[in-house]
Amino acid sequence: PDLFQAPDYYLIDELLSDEHKLVRNTSRSWVKKELSPIIEEYAQKSEFPKQLISGLAEVGAFGSYIPSEYGGAGLDQISYGLIMQELERGDSGIRSTASVQTSLVMGPIYNYGSEPQRKKYLPKLASGEWIGSFGLTEPNHGSNPGGMETKFKDMGDHYLLNGAKMWISNSPICDVAVVWAKNEEGRIHGLIVERGMEGFTTPETKNKWSLRASITGELIFNNVKVPKENILPNKSGLGAPLKCLDHARYGIAWGAIGAAMDCYDTALRYSKERTQFGKPIGQFQLQQKKLAEMITEITKAQLMAWRLGVLKNEGKATSAQISMAKRNNVEMAINIAREARQVLGAMGISGEYSIMRHAMNLESVITYEGTHDVHLLITGLDITGLNAFK
Ligand code: FAD
Repeated sequence: PDLFQAPDYYLIDELLSDEHKLVRNTSRSWVKKELSPIIEEYAQKSEFPKQLISGLAEVGAFGSYIPSEYGGAGLDQISYGLIMQELERGDSGIRSTASVQTSLVMGPIYNYGSEPQRKKYLPKLASGEWIGSFGLTEPNHGSNPGGMETKFKDMGDHYLLNGAKMWISNSPICDVAVVWAKNEEGRIHGLIVERGMEGFTTPETKNKWSLRASITGELIFNNVKVPKENILPNKSGLGAPLKCLDHARYGIAWGAIGAAMDCYDTALRYSKERTQFGKPIGQFQLQQKKLAEMITEITKAQLMAWRLGVLKNEGKATSAQISMAKRNNVEMAINIAREARQVLGAMGISGEYSIMRHAMNLESVITYEGTHDVHLLITGLDITGLNAFK
């Protein structure tokens, strides 16, 4: 009873296994107990609450679907999605930390790494002893990462890495970074760069109005000597980082539902409590329209995420299907945050409620991991066979 009751208008719980519900309830109660009470303060002071790291590891948010022999939680894709949903009900920034750690750092090390790399990095990342970051975006190359300028040279006994990455989640606190760079032939490879390597710095990006409880920064490589054993051996080319992004975007499709649920729930409760013109504002048709549309959109997004999770478990989800869900569900959430904000009137802008924080956070979520526009073009390409990027 102390658990938040998720809107479940179409009884989607009936589609979940007992394990799914257990995993979800565990993350939900952790969010309620540990995250929600402190998050507003950390967002206001623009600081990542580091004390949450061990709890994130305990609820299985680090390496949710990585096998347990490497320290992961060994869960399926729907459980992973549900964890992301519950974390983002708390805050998109904290969900971002988990997405990066699981899908963008542990994912490539597990999928493209050597056995010694898996053994060295995965258990420490799963336990939260180490925090990882994923360096793809550069100052001059965001939506078009294939144009990246960061490069490495084979020096015989090591690689020499030069370049810079920007807008990197967790960079200022990361112990390891999975960095995408071109070799002398222009082929993209993943390199594991460790804090402490000479010439590697991670300055923080300040003054964000969004994802303020998530720490963001640069990764700068100034003649960094990277040991040869730190290259990810089993996949190269732009497809390698893009495949990692598929996994993370899938999690975001679920995560955004969490933010939307929290906004909807807040607005629904407020609409019944707040009285104007002698009536609860929830009795006015205009407010009912907002609330009714919110629950409709949440329900559609839940069904989309659930079905995508089934396809992903079966290994059948395509990149384009994942793009569609990321794009749809984040837009759904941002629209709900804006509408819910209005339902609360002036109180909607206050940190007493979570809505404005969600709204601001979602402005990053709609841009990172492929912008709203780019995902639309991916659907366009998929259905027409005609490439708008060229
Ligand atoms: P641009 O690519 O410059 O795009 C600007 C605008 O042009 C957008 O509206 C875009 O949709 C549009 N546009 C671009 N190309 C086209 C086209 N072909 N057709 C039509 N419109 C187009 N990156 C990482 O590598 N690792 C991270 O951990 C990470 N974390 C982030 C955290 C935060 C808080 C933020 C804000 C960003 C993060 N990013 C990260 C970067 C993010 O992935 C990029 O911002 C994103 O890919 C967009 O790139 P850009 O900002 O350079 O925008």
